[in-house]
Amino acid sequence: MRWTLEQIARQTGGTIDGTSHDQTGNLAVHAIETDTRLAFRTRALFVALDGPNYRGDRFLPAAAERGAVAALVGEEAVNTTDLPLIRVANPLRALQQLAADYHAAMPGPTLAITGSNGKTILKDFLAHSLMSRELVYASPGSYNSQVGVALSLLARRTPVALAIIEAGVSQQNEMQHLAAMIRPRHGVLTNIGLAHFEGFGSRAAIAREKIQLFRDLPPEGWLLIPDDPLLDEALLADIRCPIYRFGSDPRLPKLIATSPAGRGRSQLHLAFPDGQETFLQVAIDYSWREVFQTLLAGICTAWLFGISANSITRYGGAFNPPLNRLELWQSEQGCLLANDSYSADPVSTRSCLSLFDHYQGKNTWFIFAGMGELGERGAYEHRVIGELAARKQVKHLLLTGPHADATAEGYRHAFAEGVVHQFDDTAALTRYADHHAKEAEVVLIKGPREARLDTLTNLFKSKLTQTVYYISLTKIRDNALAYRGLMPADGKLLVMLKAFAYGTDAGQIARFLQTHVDFFGVAYVKEAVSLRRQGINNEILVQLVLPDDVDEVARLDLQPVVFSLDVARALNTAAERHNTRIKIHLKVDTGMGRFGVFPDQVGPLAAAIQELKHLQIEGLMTHFSSADDPEADAFSREQLAGFEQARAALNALGIDPPLCHAAASAAAARFPEARFSMIRIGLGVYGIYPSREVAETLVLKCPVTLLSQIGSLKTYPPGYPISYNQRFTTKRESRIAFMPLGYYDGLSRKLSNQGYVIVNGRRAPIVGSVCMDFTAVDVTGIEDVAVGDPVLVFGEWRGNSIRVEELAEMEGTIPYEVLVRWSHRIQRIYLMDEE
Ligand SMILES: *Cc1c(COP(=O)(O)O)cnc(C)c1O
Repeated sequence: MRWTLEQIARQTGGTIDGTSHDQTGNLAVHAIETDTRLAFRTRALFVALDGPNYRGDRFLPAAAERGAVAALVGEEAVNTTDLPLIRVANPLRALQQLAADYHAAMPGPTLAITGSNGKTILKDFLAHSLMSRELVYASPGSYNSQVGVALSLLARRTPVALAIIEAGVSQQNEMQHLAAMIRPRHGVLTNIGLAHFEGFGSRAAIAREKIQLFRDLPPEGWLLIPDDPLLDEALLADIRCPIYRFGSDPRLPKLIATSPAGRGRSQLHLAFPDGQETFLQVAIDYSWREVFQTLLAGICTAWLFGISANSITRYGGAFNPPLNRLELWQSEQGCLLANDSYSADPVSTRSCLSLFDHYQGKNTWFIFAGMGELGERGAYEHRVIGELAARKQVKHLLLTGPHADATAEGYRHAFAEGVVHQFDDTAALTRYADHHAKEAEVVLIKGPREARLDTLTNLFKSKLTQTVYYISLTKIRDNALAYRGLMPADGKLLVMLKAFAYGTDAGQIARFLQTHVDFFGVAYVKEAVSLRRQGINNEILVQLVLPDDVDEVARLDLQPVVFSLDVARALNTAAERHNTRIKIHLKVDTGMGRFGVFPDQVGPLAAAIQELKHLQIEGLMTHFSSADDPEADAFSREQLAGFEQARAALNALGIDPPLCHAAASAAAARFPEARFSMIRIGLGVYGIYPSREVAETLVLKCPVTLLSQIGSLKTYPPGYPISYNQRFTTKRESRIAFMPLGYYDGLSRKLSNQGYVIVNGRRAPIVGSVCMDFTAVDVTGIEDVAVGDPVLVFGEWRGNSIRVEELAEMEGTIPYEVLVRWSHRIQRIYLMDEE
């Protein structure tokens, strides 16, 4: 993606506002940003969008601070910065025009999805199922608004077989703008509900607006819609492509029966038009069966794209509904937590309430922050929700939001024994829940995003698990951007996601980082397959290709590291079979002593590879062995010299690979001359410094926190041995606590009698042998310690911190090993903490 201001002005019908016009016109822009609360990519054009109560030019200083190189503004905008400006009549339409042009220039058809509920689930399901056959781009998150669609189109990178774009509207006459940008060939409408009812006034009006997205589907496309009488012939009269109705059309797969499959899974019994019947198991609790209609739409879409019944069943079965949306989660003790704190409208709220059908007699809680945008119907719809909660015999109703009274009234009216608590705001609600959460057995949390229920959800989670591993996606992103800031404008950033993203979760992190990072890196092809299945479209560098993997490399458009002619030949054959070209990165061993050819062998290898017509030398790379260690700087410089030698050998053959890369977290920080055109960052994005010297050059945030709790407490007399083999004996009367965390979980036995944790803001030493599941800490003299209190093992928590580096030092290993080894028994919880 690269434009000059001149090009942008031409595309958007704007004028450039700057003194030295010629120079300004040639200024290059590589990314578009609209939100100054987030870090910007390099060479960004800031599009200053007006809000309901403010003008976009207000954010120009913030954009300049974020490093924008220019801004696109409305005609009236006042420039309070030195940024060169492009002035246009309407910045939103200009942004949409840029997105439309960018998208139109990409090959491959587009599938547009709209509907009141389930768009994102459907999109993710499809990205997952269709990945079995071809590369798919799916718009990230729920980028479905006027701005979101533009940004998701602009986020497309590699050409793909199919782009899946989600579109949502909240007002009349919005869809036409989305349709003009997306220009779909195929369309899916999931359902017509009451979301954004205020903007439309009736379901018929909602249906009319949604159909606008599909007005211009070409005759060779198709449209899939629900079997809803509102979608009548008159409404569909001028659609030129074939129309299918899921649920009733004999040409489509049918849902014959559904049943619970235990452990939060459900089974769908499907019949396909070719006579096959299959059972699809999905990771969705049976109580959420309203989602099954959305899945059926997904299954029908996959079928229309020619995916077989077997493939649909296989790949659909591995589908996991994404974070923060119908998130359903069971603690080890069996408390069920259902969280949809992302959006709320009458249809989805009613459908969520059916969760309680299966838990009669349990201590059920419904935490409800209300629904927005309902206009005159607001009080009525909220009352209905209260009545429904009563009918489901929800024991505790916790309410906040403007129509809480109506909900409470509906509930009390129908269920006198129920308990209602009303709160002024989310904070008060959270405080109450903090004290009472443990009593709950089934909790449903529902509310609009604006209610910011996420702290509440996280609180429940920490009440329900003994040890939680908090991973802040926002801080990981900020660390990645801090590294990006080390690079010149056209430099690239690779984030290493090997080993489940250093023991966290590669899929979650990739999904969150995908628009901020050029490349992801993995160790094995199998890891890349999993990323592609989750709809990740970035370039992926694979360190080691095994003989069985070559077809996957070709099929999934991966970029392998190559250092043997045999592997190169096998890749070439695979690429030929798949009728494609594989971009490879030649690896030089300059002293790492692991993979790669020696510098003087690079020339001959490259010359031989040049004969292989289905391979393209995209990069030259090496890896440092000791870049973290200042005592080894002479050695690192020798490695650099070896790399330069290899580069010269390639150039002598007339090969100048677009990418040269050598530096990981340590070298990128310590050796500017080793950054070349890309840096490969692993440990640094998790906020951890490979060594003290690296900490001096870069400021990183701490995104990882491991929090256990006090599991038991007991006072021992002096001289009493604690834990296995009497390796610790109390010297005085001692208060000893055990936390439910042991060496199985990743707390090394080497920390026996060595490390410490933080309890109530005070250090508590680890005493005695660390056991498999438990560890003793000495809390003598720490006031007010009680069972259940949080224990900080590492990370930052309420003003205290223990660094992973420190833990590593205490047990005599490197921070990498400490970070990656936390067992999957520990619950991971992802935070998106906006600043
Ligand atoms: C792991 C790895 C990286 C990232 O290393 P960090 O020190 O974690 O930044 C980069 N390149 C290669 C080849 C690696 O194996």
